[in-house]
Amino acid sequence: MYEITKEGVFQLLKRLTEAVGPSGFEDSVREVVIEELKPYADSLWIDSLGNVIAVKRGSRGSGRLMLAGHMDEIGLIVSFVDQRGFIRFQPIGGVSERVLLGQRVLIKARDGRIVRGVIGSKPPHIMKPEELKQVPEIKDMYIDIGASSREEVEKLGIGVGCVAVFERDLAVLGGSDVVTGKAIDDRVGVATMIEGFKAIDGNEVEVYAVATVQEEVGLKGARVAAYSITPDVAVALDVTIASDVAGVPEQEWVTQLGKGPAIKVVDGRAATGLIAHPAVRDKLIEIARQYGIPHQVEVAPGGTTDASAIALNKEGVPAATVSIPSRYIHSPVEVVNLVDVVNAARLTALFSSKVTSEWVASLARRVVK
Ligand code: ZN
Repeated sequence: MYEITKEGVFQLLKRLTEAVGPSGFEDSVREVVIEELKPYADSLWIDSLGNVIAVKRGSRGSGRLMLAGHMDEIGLIVSFVDQRGFIRFQPIGGVSERVLLGQRVLIKARDGRIVRGVIGSKPPHIMKPEELKQVPEIKDMYIDIGASSREEVEKLGIGVGCVAVFERDLAVLGGSDVVTGKAIDDRVGVATMIEGFKAIDGNEVEVYAVATVQEEVGLKGARVAAYSITPDVAVALDVTIASDVAGVPEQEWVTQLGKGPAIKVVDGRAATGLIAHPAVRDKLIEIARQYGIPHQVEVAPGGTTDASAIALNKEGVPAATVSIPSRYIHSPVEVVNLVDVVNAARLTALFSSKVTSEWVASLARRVVK
């Protein structure tokens, strides 16, 4: 049986997070995902939007479980290059101005080459005091790749429509189990899904592991993948807020780093994201308890995941989310605990292996008359 380890998770997460893959441009991530899932899948394909779908046949042949983790990350897209070679950009997904300034970025040129740049704006020394207090707007920033003309930028294969992401390697914090990097949202969910899929043992239902595209821009990949699969039950794997940090009162932590994967009850503002299907949520909790997997129960005040789109497929899909507590989401210094990831992957494997065709059928439409 496949063993999920911290070291294995770290190496996989490193490859996944360091790949450049903003929404709609997930190619580099997709390559890693296919390489990892292919040996363990009975079949595998890429749909026309770019989702990777890997299937493990079930022993009973009835019931379909869909797992989903999104490959895309937030990023930038080049919108204009000026005469002097400064590159203007627009955000892809929820990029906050507050974390952009002073970053190194990697731009993907038309031929796939990676070009380094920095995000700049005018120096503080020439700003007025009131300007200094404000967070600069994206329209006042640019990427500087060290070129001195538009022609020079063009020569590197960079122009309008090229994408960029933060430059950040995955690194261990202070010799602990805690790691930091970019795109942990949601490569950590993808890593959880891959490791969980590898460790599935004796599954009765068919398991579809879907590495989705374009989650950060409206849960798009998950929507079409769910339509094509028609799952009977679904679990999304994504990060969730861990605001268990200095200056935040306990009641606002949502989850805590290192206390285990979180099983979601609701997310989105005023529960407008996902309301997890109670039976699926409780089955996850039951399995976690039974196998001694540390876990937390989560009510998230904002944000949502692929599960929200999957739940609304066709006649409706009983859906839930297993989340990995993460600090500083959507920044270049996202933080997770590797032990939480190992436990999330174990829970994913156990849930996939233990749910029965009978249980899955019990969630379906009940005819009353
Ligand atoms: Zn996410």
